[in-house]
Amino acid sequence: MGNSKKIVPVKATAPGSLQNELTLRGVPASPGIAIGPAHLFTRDYLKVEPRVLSGKQIAREIEHFQAALEETRQDILKTKSKAVKQTGDIVARLFDSHLLILDDVTLIEETLERVKEEKVSADWIVHDVMQRSYRSLKAQKGEYFSQRADDIRDVARRLVFNLQGVKDEYLSDLEKPVVLIAPDLSPSDIIHLDRSHVLGIATNLGGATSHTAILTRSLEVPAVTGLKNLTELICPGQEVIVNGNSGKVILHPSAERLTEYRDKRKKFISFWTRLKQLRELPTQTTDGRRMRLLANIELPIESASVLTHGGEGIGLFRTEYLYLTRGTLPTESEQINEYRNVVESLHPHPVVIRTFDLGGDKVTPSLDFPKEANPFLGWRAIRICLDLEEMFRAQFSAILQVSQKRDVRILLPLISSVTEVRRAKQILKEVMADLKARKIPFNPNIPLGIMIEVPSAVMMAKELARECDFFSVGTNDLVQYTLAVDRGNENVTHLFTPFHPAILRMIKSTVRAAHDRGIPVAVCGELAGDPLATLLLVGLEVDELSMAPLILPEIKKIIRSTTFETAHKVAQQAFRYSTAEEVEDYLIHTMKKIFADLPVWFTREKEDA
Ligand code: PEP
Ligand code: MG
Repeated sequence: MGNSKKIVPVKATAPGSLQNELTLRGVPASPGIAIGPAHLFTRDYLKVEPRVLSGKQIAREIEHFQAALEETRQDILKTKSKAVKQTGDIVARLFDSHLLILDDVTLIEETLERVKEEKVSADWIVHDVMQRSYRSLKAQKGEYFSQRADDIRDVARRLVFNLQGVKDEYLSDLEKPVVLIAPDLSPSDIIHLDRSHVLGIATNLGGATSHTAILTRSLEVPAVTGLKNLTELICPGQEVIVNGNSGKVILHPSAERLTEYRDKRKKFISFWTRLKQLRELPTQTTDGRRMRLLANIELPIESASVLTHGGEGIGLFRTEYLYLTRGTLPTESEQINEYRNVVESLHPHPVVIRTFDLGGDKVTPSLDFPKEANPFLGWRAIRICLDLEEMFRAQFSAILQVSQKRDVRILLPLISSVTEVRRAKQILKEVMADLKARKIPFNPNIPLGIMIEVPSAVMMAKELARECDFFSVGTNDLVQYTLAVDRGNENVTHLFTPFHPAILRMIKSTVRAAHDRGIPVAVCGELAGDPLATLLLVGLEVDELSMAPLILPEIKKIIRSTTFETAHKVAQQAFRYSTAEEVEDYLIHTMKKIFADLPVWFTREKEDA
C-alpha cells in the first residue's frame, strides 16, 4: 500500500532564454550559494473523509487508532535518531516536542470518545482535533505559536497517514541534485532529505529563527525563507540561484548572472572552508594577544552551532526567550532542564546566563505589563526581576543548580546603579543559603557580571567593578540610551550608530575601569560581530567578543591576521575623529588597506545586499 513516488526533477530549460530575470528577496536563513534546477515540492493535502462505522467496527477502530499511535511514535523516534546523527543531540530534541504532541491526552481521549459516540473513523476525528489546535495556535501572535502549530501539522500528517495506511512522501528519493522549492518544510522533511541531492532550499514561509532555518544551518544547506509567493513563480526544472548570505533568490537568471554566481559560489566555498579550518586554532593576534570569542544565543537549540563555528563558549544566553517562546512562565525545574542542556553541550566551555531581560519590546502574555509611554525607559530587565522577587529567585536557583563543577556565570541586564547590583547579590546570597540548607550542590563562587548598557553604568564603572566579577558591554542599548535613538524605530535608523565617538569613549572608559580593578570586559552587542569594529575593539583591549555563532569564523580570521600593535594604532587613530561618519570612513579605508588580500569581511554580505 502507499503512494510513495520517485521524485525526478523536470528537465532544465536553457538558462535565460525564455523569461526575464526575476530577483526575490527573503530572509537569509542559512549561508552559502546554490545554483541548480528548481524542484517544486508541494505535498498532497491530506485526504480525509468521515467513514461511518457499524457498531461492530468500533472496537476494531479503537485498536487501529492505538496501533497507529504506536507506529507514529516509532516513526518520530526513528526521525529523531536520524537527526541525532546528522545534527547532534540538541537540535534533534526538536522531535521531543513531536512526541509530546502525540502523547497529548486531549487528542487521545477526544478521539477515543468521539469514535465511540459519533461512530466515525479515527482519521477524520484526529484530523479535526488537530486542525482545531493548529488554527488556534496560528491565530496567535509570535513565532513560537506558529512553530508549535507547524509541529502539530507535522505530527497530524504522520498519524493520519498511519491510520490510512498511506506512506508519506519524503525527499529522500531525489535522483539528482536540485534546489528545493516548497511552500514550507517541516523539521521531518528536512531530516529526511538526501543532503547529497539538495543544493539549496527556498521556501515561501519561515523566518531566521524558524525550525527550518535552524536545521538548514545545522546541515549547512544554503537556504532562504519567507519568499511569500515563490512557489507560484517558479518553473520546475528552470535554473535558480539561492543566495543564503543575502536572502536573494534569482529566477530565470541570465547566462551572465549564472557565470557571476558560479564564481561567487566558488569563492564562498573556498572562503568558508578556510574559515572552518580556523575552528581549532586559538583566537590571537599574530603578535600573541589572546582574545576570547563567544556566542550569543536566544534558544538552547542554537548552542549546537557554537562549537562548530569555533566559539569558545556562550557569552550571552538571552534567557527571556524562554518566556517569549512559551507564553507562560517557565517553572524552576523547566529552567533547570533548559540551562542544563546548554551547559552540558558546551562543557568545559563557559556559559554566561543572563537573567530575564523582559520589557521594552520583549513582552510576554504571562506577565502583566503596565501600559507605559516609554517602555524602554520603564519596567524592564533588572527592574522587573527586583520587583518580581519570586521569579528572580527561581531563576537564580535554576542557574545555581546547573553550576556545580561547570563553568556557568550569571549576567545582570540593564544595570543603572550600584544599588541594583547589591540588591541582586543579596537575593543571590539568600538563594544560595536556601540551596545549601537543602543540601543541593552548586558553585558558591559562581561569577556574577553586569551588562554595561546604560550611560550611568559607564559613569559609575569604577564603583560597579568593585561589586562584580566581569562586565559585558551591550552596545545595542548603550547606543539607544546614549544617543537617545530608539533601537527599533526606522525613522531614526540612520542615527543609530555604535561608531559615534561618544560610544567609543564609553567603551574605552569601561575597559579602563574594569582593568584597573582586574576584571575582564566583553562586548556582546551587535558591534562585537561587526567586522568593521574588530580592530577597534581589539585595540581598545576588550577581552572577549560575543556574537551570533555564524559570524565567529570571520571575526576570528580578522584577529588572527593582524597584530595587536596595528589594532592599537587603529583605535588611537579612530579616537581623533569627531563624527561617526569619519570614524566609519576611516575604518572602511583601513580595513580595505590591511585586508586587501582577504575576501573576508567586505565581499560577503555587503556587496550583495
Ligand atoms: C545589548 O543591548 O547590546 C544587548 C546585547 O542586549 P539585548 O540586545 O538583548 O538588549
Ligand atoms: Mg540590552
